[in-house]
Amino acid sequence: MKMLRHARQAATLAAATMLVIGGAAGCAKEDTGGTTESGVTLIKAGALTTCTHLPYAPFQSKDQTGKVVGFDVALIDLVAAKLGVTQEIVDTPFEGIKSGADLNSGKCDVAAAGMTITDERKKVLDFSEPYFDATQALATQTGKEVKTLEELVGKRLGVQGGTTGEEYINGQVKEKSLDIKVVSYRDLAALQQALATNQIEGAVNDLPVWNEYIKANPGKVVVAAGFDTGEQYGFAVKKGNAQLLKTVNEAIAAARADGTYDKIYAQWIGEKPVG
Ligand code: GLN
Repeated sequence: MKMLRHARQAATLAAATMLVIGGAAGCAKEDTGGTTESGVTLIKAGALTTCTHLPYAPFQSKDQTGKVVGFDVALIDLVAAKLGVTQEIVDTPFEGIKSGADLNSGKCDVAAAGMTITDERKKVLDFSEPYFDATQALATQTGKEVKTLEELVGKRLGVQGGTTGEEYINGQVKEKSLDIKVVSYRDLAALQQALATNQIEGAVNDLPVWNEYIKANPGKVVVAAGFDTGEQYGFAVKKGNAQLLKTVNEAIAAARADGTYDKIYAQWIGEKPVG
């Protein structure tokens, strides 16, 4: 009984807090944000605002109705649920996400963009525990397979600007002194379009996005070679936002423990590799 009364008092207090926040937001020109019951401060009251860069299926892309869906979206929905708010997604260039600029300027609370954890990015972002393992893959049109980068000498190879794939390829080209024309595209859709229309001989990006593309466009493109870069994806928050980071990590850990993670994985990625 005592517990119940306490809980009720806490709820009343929380409702009062919400009202105050609502009032403040009403006066100010811009939304002044809000604090959830668990003490996490959000840039917009009632929402967990996520920065991402579309399209990046199966992690985030628009469905037929225009709704943004995917593996990352499903995981961040769990974080939003834990905070008692709904997720709102902002589509923005990858550069602003990985540089920390979007989180620092208050464009969003969290970044979820199939983003690889790197030492360089760790300097400007605080990453969650890893939530996905990825490698790089070289896709070509069916019938034009190449197994090595050496076979692309004198040809054009596409990458996506600002990504770890671009960095890996530029590194290889330099290290092996390969005369390959590396062409950077602003997003995954532009890269895939370039490959489909013969503007490039091959294209490098994270393996799961090629698997997804091949599922959606059977027979046209193949994964011709893989590069085991041993990457891990992390969600990111503004440097120092320990409260939100804790909630993100707790949501991932809970999803891994209760089977939700596996369900989301099966839905968006497919069968888990054995071992
Ligand atoms: N995983 C890659 C990176 O972090 C690609 C991410 C993306 O394009 N959304 O650079």
